[in-house]
Amino acid sequence: MTTLVQQYFSNSARRFPDKAGLNCADDSSTFRDSDLLTNAIANHICANGMERGSFIPFFMSKSINSIHSILSILKSDCAYVPIDVASPPGRINSILEVSNASLVIVDKASKELFLSHLPDGSKIDILVIDEFSGGDTSERDYQNLSIDIAYVLFTSGSTGVPKGVMIPHKAIIDYIDWCVSEYELSSSDVIANHAPLYFDNSTFDLYTAFSTGAELHLVHDAVNAVLPSLIKWIRNRKISTFFCVPSVMSMLLRSRRLKSDSFPDLRHMIAAGEVLPPDVVRGWMELYPHVQFTNMYGPTEITVDCSFHVIREIPTPDQQTIPIGKARPNMELFVRTENGELQQAVGARGELLVRGTSVAYGYLGDSEKTNKAFIQNPNNDVFADMLYCTGDLVEIDAQGDYLFLGRADEQIKYLGYRIELGEIEAALTSIDGVDEGVVVFNDSDKPEETGIGALVSSETLDEKALLAELRDKVPPYMVPSRVLLKTDDFPRTANEKYDRKSIKRLVFR
Ligand code: AMP
Repeated sequence: MTTLVQQYFSNSARRFPDKAGLNCADDSSTFRDSDLLTNAIANHICANGMERGSFIPFFMSKSINSIHSILSILKSDCAYVPIDVASPPGRINSILEVSNASLVIVDKASKELFLSHLPDGSKIDILVIDEFSGGDTSERDYQNLSIDIAYVLFTSGSTGVPKGVMIPHKAIIDYIDWCVSEYELSSSDVIANHAPLYFDNSTFDLYTAFSTGAELHLVHDAVNAVLPSLIKWIRNRKISTFFCVPSVMSMLLRSRRLKSDSFPDLRHMIAAGEVLPPDVVRGWMELYPHVQFTNMYGPTEITVDCSFHVIREIPTPDQQTIPIGKARPNMELFVRTENGELQQAVGARGELLVRGTSVAYGYLGDSEKTNKAFIQNPNNDVFADMLYCTGDLVEIDAQGDYLFLGRADEQIKYLGYRIELGEIEAALTSIDGVDEGVVVFNDSDKPEETGIGALVSSETLDEKALLAELRDKVPPYMVPSRVLLKTDDFPRTANEKYDRKSIKRLVFR
């Protein structure tokens, strides 16, 4: 019985010791070598007094080292916290603080950058993973239970502070065991990991591979930098399962490099994380009739995906939307209608609420935000039964499938990234010299017109100086591509709120 996610890996190491389980660029490692190395690192971490249940961040570009970091942290009975190396220092330090981190794993390539972000006098220890050698390679007797936390993923927070979503082992196991069975994955699959490790789509890739003993191939930065090179990469690596955000499917289709014989080994193309446009699916399905296409839906707070829709028919040219489908086993979906009722009937429209085994424990160190987003099921006064309020607006169609209608708030998805416009606004208005700032998102059919824009009032800063300051505060993907400086009054609605529609028109005209 698997109760802890690292056991997936060790079991595969026993079954397929000499198989190259982990692959990235020209590097690969067998299940056995990775298992023994990460046992040794975990023994070292524990021998140095790391307390069970601690949060251990790792900071490095995606590589076999990062997977070794994850396994070593889990095997230390601790929870891992991935940090994006492109994050600005303010964000990194906020994550370190919330995680109460005393140790961070880096590699030789990321060490100096990480150290340069730490404030003077910082007491954080670092472990340089690719300098580690030797040690006791025996498997620890794990103390953790499946209810203990496996990872904390930080997502954008509307008040300017990122939120750390706490996910226990049992949530991942429930999700992964279902994925393996639903997609009939086995050791003969070859699974790609496209998503960054700080994005929860990566959970699917890592743990379906560990659990089945399939080869895992990490899409590294160099391939991502020139997206069409991904086509050759998928073909050459004989990838059978590719899980990505729809933006990637759409960019590859637009590149016009997709050919009907590009992916002979592909069995599954799974899209998740943002709206999947029907015309993109049509383009792919016409080219690859041998591939199964699935739309999966879910926020980080419910462990990757709580609903799914296998796309059986090629969408027609007039089709408006691809459903996000029905709940996966052990998860239940409700629509909270305008009058506050929870409904599951055809035609219901409102906010999507989710309950089930894989709902997160909330946000690390932030009970206020946790209590707002995670509520006790009002129809259950017998036991603790949390509903996650997604903020997504949905409708149930005649087939009982859920349709995604949009957001109830200012959260957006841009190039697969989840962004609270409020986080950018908070960063903007914290800059000395900025009197007022409003951030908007233009979602257009034309990629060149899609993007984040800001209307800013400042007497002292020009656009260049403003953006330089902002880059120190938010990750690169949150930096607005359009800025309009304006010193007179901002457009407002009758009740004195910012008129975001007019502001969007002004910034993107
Ligand atoms: P994240 O926590 O980064 O996975 O982002 C979760 C949010 O992405 C959801 O609350 C939705 O707004 C959006 N999302 C995820 N999957 C889908 C999907 N299949 N269709 C439409 N929106 C999605």
